[in-house]
Amino acid sequence: MYEYVIIGGGVHGTCLANHLLDSGGCTHDDLRIIDPHEELLASFATKARQCGMRTLRSSFVHHIDTEPFSLETFATGHDRGDELVATNDYPNRPTLELFLDHARYVIDRHGLADCHVRGTVSAITDPDARDSLRVETDAGAFDTRRVVLALGLGPQPTYPVWTATVPDTAPLAHVWDDGFDPMAATGFDGTTIVVGGGITAAQLACRFAEQTHVTLLSRHDLKTALAEADPYWINWGHIETHLHTLPAGSQARHDRIRNARNDATIPPYVMDRLTDARDRGDLTIRIGEIACAHATGDGLLVRFADGWSTANAQVLLATGLEPAPDHPLVSQIAETLGLERGANGFPVLNDRTLAWRRTDGTDSRVFVAGKLAETTVGPLARNVVGARRVAERLLASCPDSRRQRRTAVDPAHPT
Ligand SMILES: Cc1cc2nc3c(=O)[nH]c(=O)nc-3n(C[C@H](O)[C@H](O)[C@H](O)COP(=O)(O)OP(=O)(O)OC[C@H]3O[C@@H](n4cnc5c(N)ncnc54)[C@H](O)[C@@H]3O)c2cc1C
Repeated sequence: MYEYVIIGGGVHGTCLANHLLDSGGCTHDDLRIIDPHEELLASFATKARQCGMRTLRSSFVHHIDTEPFSLETFATGHDRGDELVATNDYPNRPTLELFLDHARYVIDRHGLADCHVRGTVSAITDPDARDSLRVETDAGAFDTRRVVLALGLGPQPTYPVWTATVPDTAPLAHVWDDGFDPMAATGFDGTTIVVGGGITAAQLACRFAEQTHVTLLSRHDLKTALAEADPYWINWGHIETHLHTLPAGSQARHDRIRNARNDATIPPYVMDRLTDARDRGDLTIRIGEIACAHATGDGLLVRFADGWSTANAQVLLATGLEPAPDHPLVSQIAETLGLERGANGFPVLNDRTLAWRRTDGTDSRVFVAGKLAETTVGPLARNVVGARRVAERLLASCPDSRRQRRTAVDPAHPT
């Protein structure tokens, strides 16, 4: 019987595991992290590299360790202080490589990889009727007292409707496709169109503009914003006052989050790179949409909604991911365990403990992290700092459960 099984070994799952072990709330024997990748954090590292990200958007105090200045100490201790990049009107931000190397150091320090089971979870059941949960995976079944869902931003890439008729062999890719290889795509002998209007599209366009001419196609004018949301939303008291006062599961919570998030925006330092590429003649920015695309012997013939067209093109999509609640596991768990879903299919959580509520109003043994917890954790739930907020809630609601159990068995056992 495990104390915790965390589903997903990305930024959130790994950060939570680190906090749980660091606090003494559980041991390696009590904890499993189920994730299909070879290594923890692989999902984030791959995505970041696929889009040509150089630095994080968040500051140096946002990382997976428990001490706020851990990443800064790591950087200076390894003579890498210059990888904390100065930013106007914002704290220093780490380079991607510094962030990942620090995360690997944290993983090694706590032996987090020992808790990692390579596998994909297909179902959660409660054979003991509420006393425990069974996590079914392609690597076997795991019985546990608590499950934490840390499934990521969305189950699969979003494809625009016009892509449905484009054959698989055509030069069309989504930046979050598992098999997307930016190196191979830079070798395309024709024009490259990057579709999207946010930071991912901008970074991808900048990366390709170093090799070839790129058209960045956005549905809207490009907008700048430094952070993904106002830093007030890091503060739990602010979240309680401005989010938890709205009805749980309501559309009003989603509306507040949408208004608070700077979605589809580009930070000024990436906008500067776009402007430089445009001034060099390597990049064109178009506002519009693709109406249809046909495969030809020379790449794609692309027609735009305004009547313009271009031939011999490859199209790279940076159009995001499907909604997090569309993950098949979310429906399976809700149906099997009788859990409540609110507006847009999001889990309805206990705002204090992050336990997914049953339809009878009681707390289940399933806890939720990341974007799926947005209606309780707020606009920065999906971000690195959101993982820390979730860890604090989990530790506060289930303090030192392993030691408590031991004490119950053996009151003389030192705590
Ligand atoms: C390119 C990029 C840059 C970003 N930059 C920043 C930034 O600078 N600052 C910031 O705060 N945030 C940033 N974010 C947002 C956020 O921090 C990241 O998306 C982060 O990876 C989210 O962590 P996560 O654990 O929720 O998801 P992920 O890191 O994607 O991990 C989810 C994991 O769950 C696994 N999983 C899913 N289903 C199952 C299943 N059924 N069984 C087992 N495992 C499963 C997946 O395989 C995956 O490994 C960025 C996001 C992206 C994409």
